[in-house]
Amino acid sequence: MFGRALRLRCPACGGGPVLLSWFLLAPSCPACGLRFERGEEGYWVGSYMFNIVVSELCFAAAAIAVVVATWPTPPWTLITVGGVIMMLLIPFVFLPFSKMLFLAFDLCFRPPVDADFAAPLEPAAGRRA
Ligand SMILES: [Zn+2]
Repeated sequence: MFGRALRLRCPACGGGPVLLSWFLLAPSCPACGLRFERGEEGYWVGSYMFNIVVSELCFAAAAIAVVVATWPTPPWTLITVGGVIMMLLIPFVFLPFSKMLFLAFDLCFRPPVDADFAAPLEPAAGRRA
């Protein structure tokens, strides 16, 4: 399921496309009908945690790599400016991945039930995510 999520496919079936745009998720999977927002207010808050953790891990790994590679005179200004740029860009780049990863994570603990699937003839692109 996590591999499917990282390829921006439905974690449950591998179908797609799951995105209407980079920032807008389809309401349900066009292949299996799984509703991506699983019936709770604020469902995607968990995906923000995935996004924040990945962004901070990328920054930490890059900062440590630059410090180690340039020791004993690390370019602190480059690290600071590069860190700010990374922390502004990565959350936008990683946003759809974080949503699909969170959905896969949720499906591990709460397997889909019949109520999680849209009606077979429901258009997938008619509603906002
Ligand atoms: Zn699916």
